[in-house]
Formats: sequence, structure tokens, C-alpha cells
Amino acid sequence: MNITGKTKLLGLMGWPVAHTFSPAMHNAAAAALGLDLVYVPLPVPPRAVGDAVRGLAALGFLGANVTVPHKQAVIPYLEEIAPAAQAIGAVNTITISRLESEKAGASQARLSGHNTDWSGFLADLRSLSVEVEGRDCLILGAGGAARAVAYALARSGGSVTIVARRPQQARRLVADLQEHVSQAPLHPAPWDDLGRVAGELTSPLIVNATPLGMHPHEDGSPWPGEVPFPSAAIVYDLVYSPRRTKLMQQAGSAGCRASNGLGMLLQQGALAFEMWTGEKPPLEVMEGALHRK
Ligand code: NAP
Repeated sequence: MNITGKTKLLGLMGWPVAHTFSPAMHNAAAAALGLDLVYVPLPVPPRAVGDAVRGLAALGFLGANVTVPHKQAVIPYLEEIAPAAQAIGAVNTITISRLESEKAGASQARLSGHNTDWSGFLADLRSLSVEVEGRDCLILGAGGAARAVAYALARSGGSVTIVARRPQQARRLVADLQEHVSQAPLHPAPWDDLGRVAGELTSPLIVNATPLGMHPHEDGSPWPGEVPFPSAAIVYDLVYSPRRTKLMQQAGSAGCRASNGLGMLLQQGALAFEMWTGEKPPLEVMEGALHRK
């Protein structure tokens, strides 16, 4: 591509970000639409988060994605937080609006924080024809991604149980979300209770929101071998490297449907791309770029 002084900038702030799939997806989308923009990895150590966010505005960035470990740390540096990002307590997308005046300069930039993880997750469930309304849902893990998934499922009418190895982390997640999704059935449970909890679920959606099974620890799985999968369970593993995780293999052996998290990555990226550019994201192009990684 021909990068000039007019080329718009986008990037992913994280630490580390060396292995990110996002530049491939966004740069392919921009090329397919003929947009003059480039998306780059932005390795930002934790002590530099504030400087980096202010730098996005000063350098004229169109926006940015945010990943581990900065999704909460960026919040104090943004002028505005969208309600969903507020409820989840994490920002994965920053948009930057500027005054129209050419004289306005970067000091007039307004930075807003959004979360497209929850909506990207739901969009992928829709593409997989998974109905959430009235369904038992079991989330393994209670970190940042679990918060987005729990918000998505609770808002969509699921009955959600969150299992965490630190029970207070699951209790905190439930308490935080109940302020925003007050009618939703949300239950915390300790990891040791997984067998009992799983035995009480009917046709559940089971979501792995831990890093267990992720490359290079591909033999790992959050599902204990001695606990049978509930019958007719649907398993969604947020991990996407490897493409077929140990958890997905276990689910397949038990006759259950299983998907990896590549579709969520695609959909959260597509939603962010549309916010930045106002263009309809070319999903097939973006998906092709992810599959080539
Ligand atoms: P995170 O904030 O660090 O949370 C990880 C959660 O997993 C925490 O509750 C953690 O508990 C738990 N955990 C870690 N190791 C565990 C173990 N051995 N046994 C039981 N629980 C364990 O990470 P995150 O941002 O939520 O990401 C979680 C996973 O989702 C990662 O693999 C990430 O790549 C993936 N993800 C995918 C997408 C996508 O688009 N597909 C988007 C976001 C995240 P402790 O706090 O006690 O360690």
C-alpha cells in the first residue's frame, strides 16, 4: 500500500501484541474497500498507558483497539464511556472524534470508549444459530472476557452461572453486572462445584473464558475429564489458537457442538471497523485474513 501523510492511522494497544491477528483483518478490510488507512500493533507497557492514549489523539489516530492488560486501565483517560463498556468495566475500542475546523488540532479531540467484545460474541452466536433466550449458560472463568460474555448472555435472557477458581472474582462479576442487568439470573459458583453445577444444567451453552488450552499449552482444558458434558450442550471456546482446542475435542467426543472464538474475534473487529470508518465491514475478506494467520 502507498502510505502518505494523508493515510489514516488505527492500532491495537496491548502488552504484548506481537502475535495479534487484528492488523491482518483490518488492513485486508481497508484494502478491499480502497480506504487509505493502516492498522498497526502498538506495544504499550503498563506504565505508559496514559501517555499512549493521549498520544493517539496527538498523533491524529482515527481510533484504536485495546487488549490485555489495558482494557480497564485506559478508562480514566477517556472523555466518554459507552453504557455497555461501563457495565462490563472494560474498553476494547476507542473512537476519536474531532472538531470539523482545520484549526482545531489534536487538542480538540474527544475520545470515547466502547466494548464490542460482548456484541461481537452475540453476533457470532447468531451466525451459529445459537438461541440464548431461556437457555442455561455456564461461563468458565471470571476475567475480562468473561465479563463481556456474561453481560451479553444476561442481556439476552440467558440464565448465567459463572465458575471461577477464585470464587470472590465470580461473586464480584455478578454483583457488578446486577447493577446494570438487574432482572437477569446470574449465579457465581466455585470451580470445585463444576461437576454439581454441570449436572443441573439442561442443554446449556458452555463458554470457556479462561486461557486454558491456548497455544503453546494445547493439552490444557478447563473441563475436568471426570465430569460428563451435559447432554445437548453447546460449547463455545473463546480460545482460537489452536483452531480445534482440547475442550472442543472433549465436547465433540461427547456428541456436543463446539466452536472456537475466531468468529467472536472477527465480529468484534467488524463492529469496531464500522465505528471508525462508517463503512459496512467486508466480513468475508476479514474472515479470510484471519484464516490465513
Ligand atoms: P483474563 O482477564 O486474564 O481472565 C482469565 C480468567 O481465567 C480469570 O478468571 C482467571 O482466573 C482464569 N484462569 C486462568 N487460568 C486458570 C486456570 N488454570 N484454572 C482456572 N481458571 C483460570 O483474560 P481474558 O481477557 O478474560 O481472556 C481469557 C481468554 O479469552 C484468553 O484466552 C483470550 O485470548 C480469550 N479471548 C478471546 C476473545 C475472542 O475474540 N475470541 C476475546 C477476548 C478474550 P485468575 O484471575 O484466578 O487467574
